[in-house]
Amino acid sequence: MSQSADILVTNAKVFTSNETNPNAQAVAIKGNRIVFVGNNQGAEAWRGDQTRVIDGQGRTLTPGFIDTHVHLLWGSIWMGTAQLQEVRSREDLKKVLLDFADKSKTDVWVVGRGIRYSIVSTCQELDEIISDRPVYIGAYDGHTGWANTKALEMAGILQNDGREMPNGIIVRDENGSASGELRESDAMRAVMDLVPLPDADRKRELLKLAIHEFNKTGITSVHNMNGDMEELMAYAALEDAGEMNMRVYVPYHVRPETKEADLKEAAEMAKVQMDYVRGGAAKFFMDGVWESYTAFNLDPYADDPSAGIVSPIFSFEHFVEMASACDKMGMQIAVHCCGDGAVRQALDGYERIQQLNGNRDSRHRIEHIEVCQPEDMPRFKELGVIASMQTSHAPFSLAEGDLWPTRVGEERWPLSFAWRDIKNAGAHMCFGSDWTVAPFDPMINLHVGLNREKWSPDDPDQRLTLPELLLGYTRDAAYVEFKENEKGQIKEGYLADLVLFSHDLFELKPEEIRSARAVLTMVDGRIVYEE
Ligand SMILES: [Zn+2]
Repeated sequence: MSQSADILVTNAKVFTSNETNPNAQAVAIKGNRIVFVGNNQGAEAWRGDQTRVIDGQGRTLTPGFIDTHVHLLWGSIWMGTAQLQEVRSREDLKKVLLDFADKSKTDVWVVGRGIRYSIVSTCQELDEIISDRPVYIGAYDGHTGWANTKALEMAGILQNDGREMPNGIIVRDENGSASGELRESDAMRAVMDLVPLPDADRKRELLKLAIHEFNKTGITSVHNMNGDMEELMAYAALEDAGEMNMRVYVPYHVRPETKEADLKEAAEMAKVQMDYVRGGAAKFFMDGVWESYTAFNLDPYADDPSAGIVSPIFSFEHFVEMASACDKMGMQIAVHCCGDGAVRQALDGYERIQQLNGNRDSRHRIEHIEVCQPEDMPRFKELGVIASMQTSHAPFSLAEGDLWPTRVGEERWPLSFAWRDIKNAGAHMCFGSDWTVAPFDPMINLHVGLNREKWSPDDPDQRLTLPELLLGYTRDAAYVEFKENEKGQIKEGYLADLVLFSHDLFELKPEEIRSARAVLTMVDGRIVYEE
């Protein structure tokens, strides 16, 4: 071979995610492709005068990470609001909000994101911090928000006007006044729709900033788990400008009010197949979350049985109608399901769609699967449905004091975040973060996946192994977006999306995994991050 490589990585511990050639020492890259995978000696043939040689120093090199569940544009806009993830008390909240309000004096609104539950619950508590400007703060999981009185007034929802909400609850006191707590999207949007979005230039800046942060953690592709043509175009504009450093797969969000005719937009999105930006899928929400009593459960909530059995966002018939239409158009379907009732209904729906439309290589998926009944676990394999899970959503231990285990109750703990059991039942599994619900840093997800503690000694051990987690973030995630022949493995001819870590990951003890970090990230043969 007379040609020389643009980049040569030598002396690395290469985890290729390729079963027929699982480990290697050296990788050569030419243009945007991997041209050689093998040992140091073999790599010498690719060394030329212009070749940049990177000494891997015995550290792990893997395919670039694919986070199969994020909210990228929302998240990047969110980065421009007050950051409340670290807030642990009302005092903390006051400090962060007042500081942010001071820095954004020319804006009308004060908006914050990422707060935990149970720090505020009423508008009066927010009024005590700021009352002369409208304030809205969103929970870390995006399913609940809190507004001050001024914001509720501006939205016209302070008094009960009897408005109907298919997917939302404005919590009211005994006099019918809004308490300040807004549950699920329709209720949150009553306020949030008034907040002006950043203009196109600012959006683009925020997006680039967010993508750079992803690259810094070794992520080279994401599945953006909601979207429309406008959002797809925001990403496409970055690619057109030659400024895109991450591959983004963008499903069309099918809402309960979406009509079959609206799916034309999804079909248009599916035609967009650029190098970095692609459509071709549809996203549904079957339910909300356990924390806000909106997860579609088969049995009542443990801490408040009066909350009863929650209705799903789509009835079975409605889901089958819309999902079947998407399936007929050749689209992949992803459904948010946190409750065991939602998981079962989505599986039932996929089964019905196969009966209606016939079997094809559809790779439909279920997102989250926070509680899953044992009899539903083998159905993922039987129906060819992908389990898309986010390990860091599981409370690491009971000591964290998270609401989640209390809501769900001890009886359902063995069925909670049951990665091991679902995988053992044969499900194809991929991993992600659901950023901004949780941090996107894969090391945090690896850490929880490797080390999560049992909440009760009798609970089954749901931990996964490092190779299982790495495969779920690379090869198996590429399969989920029908790109298993292009990326997700370090293999000759594949796209040069790679990440070099600070350590040999396999030499670290599982509990030490978080001490490792990405030190070099390559997308499409370009180094987009280097420590
Ligand atoms: Zn999500």
